[in-house]
Amino acid sequence: MTAPEAPALLAYDDVLATYEPVLGMEVHVELGTATKMFCGCPTAFGAEPNTQVCPVCLGMPGSLPVVNASAVESAIRIGLALNCSITPWGRFARKNYFYPDQPKNYQISQYDEPIATDGYLDVVLDDGSTWRVDIERAHMEEDTGKSLHVGGATGRIHGASHSLLDYNRAGVPLVEIVTKPITVAGARAPEVARAYVTALRDLLKALDVSDVRMDQGSLRCDANVSLMPIGADVFGTRTETKNVNSLKSVEIAVRYEMCRQAGVLQAGGEIIQETRHFHEADGTTSPGRRKETAEDYRYFPEPDLEPVAPSAELVERLRETLPELPWLRRARIQQEWNVSDEVMRDLVNAGALDLVIATVDAGAPADAARSWWVSYLAQQANTRGVELADLPITPAQVAQVVALIEEGKLNNKVARQVVDHVLDGEGDPAQVLEQRPDLVVVRDDSKLQAAVDEALAANPDIAQKIRDGKVAAAGKIVGDVMKATRGQADPARVKELVLAACS
Ligand code: ADP
Ligand code: MG
Ligand code: ZN
Repeated sequence: MTAPEAPALLAYDDVLATYEPVLGMEVHVELGTATKMFCGCPTAFGAEPNTQVCPVCLGMPGSLPVVNASAVESAIRIGLALNCSITPWGRFARKNYFYPDQPKNYQISQYDEPIATDGYLDVVLDDGSTWRVDIERAHMEEDTGKSLHVGGATGRIHGASHSLLDYNRAGVPLVEIVTKPITVAGARAPEVARAYVTALRDLLKALDVSDVRMDQGSLRCDANVSLMPIGADVFGTRTETKNVNSLKSVEIAVRYEMCRQAGVLQAGGEIIQETRHFHEADGTTSPGRRKETAEDYRYFPEPDLEPVAPSAELVERLRETLPELPWLRRARIQQEWNVSDEVMRDLVNAGALDLVIATVDAGAPADAARSWWVSYLAQQANTRGVELADLPITPAQVAQVVALIEEGKLNNKVARQVVDHVLDGEGDPAQVLEQRPDLVVVRDDSKLQAAVDEALAANPDIAQKIRDGKVAAAGKIVGDVMKATRGQADPARVKELVLAACS
């Protein structure tokens, strides 16, 4: 039997002509605490499998969990930064389900008494406008372990010969942040979804509660999407696309689900409430499991843990620790640098803002720092297919290159070659120059003078023009000298010498 063929996707514009999308974002963030949520095991990423485990996180009989106070404080700070109310008294709950990478057979989570409720996050869209996303709750829970399916082609369980389990991640503290339904975004729904996760990631980073690496799973996003006919007031059935692991993918996944669901509805089909997998390679989703309802989990208050009861004093003390929020910091920096909204937006969209700030902190003028990151380095990142932040050059190294230019040891063209060598792993700019002295700008005036004289002699008519006061004509001579010195001269100095020779 072959599976019935899926209806064709509807074109995006046609989706919007008939339907209004509704979104709900669930973001899991792994907290960067030194130890796990309910035991003292370390949480470092990438350790040998099953070396960071103990009876508590392995669910051994008789072991008892204890709440990690530092994780609770992080959760409260997240709630406060999201403008939520902090619950003065709340119990953990057991969420019961079997999963091989969850040894207790239940997950300790928070259910109807989450630590933080009813907040919002203002996010900036690509055109600079602000969109308020309402937050339903943020709650604490523990992460599961990881299954590794071996022997198959895809890493999935299908076709695998056996599976391995690593419990190092079991019990790592998580905070799950859930939005209220996001409505009336229309055509901008995919963009709003991406902008929301971006803003949330920036906020969590500023709070210093997590390393927010989507590629390592410390920030994981599930996107709920449904469609309803325009003008309807009852939401359609939603699907939940799991673990969308990059900002770009969030936007692609939401858009794909909109077009897929509209195709199904248009063909007279029904949307099934289910989880779906996102496929990074082609930007599509495929069915996962039918979605359980809350009743299926048989939640009940966790009997082995004290309720979490943060005092008003603690909450106020934690409020004092909130950092400058990213969007306020952005506004301050924009003022300090005296640049337009557009320039700022380009910096943010290019993922360059923090890099430029760090380059300025390392001593470079803002203009030069900005120009390196958004032009030459952005090109290099693009060619190499990596994020700007993952280019193998540090803001301090960029600042060193800028300083070498200011000292006249490099001109812009040669500076790019130096940067190329840094990117190729040849060390700091100073080390590159030590290894490659031929890159240093020709500063020896006698050498330059000889090249200038030669160029003037070869172009007597131009030399005459310059002597007649047509300074612009010097450009051609400067160009010839730059060529003769293979780009290693300082053009400003060359021009001075040309004009001096013709005066
Ligand atoms: P679950 O645990 O089943 O995933 P949650 O309450 O944790 O449910 O998250 C559901 C998310 O989906 C929330 O962000 C919620 O606002 C959103 N949501 C609820 N109903 C719909 C719907 N019909 N369409 C789109 N999103 C929805
Ligand atoms: Mg959920
Ligand atoms: Zn443990």
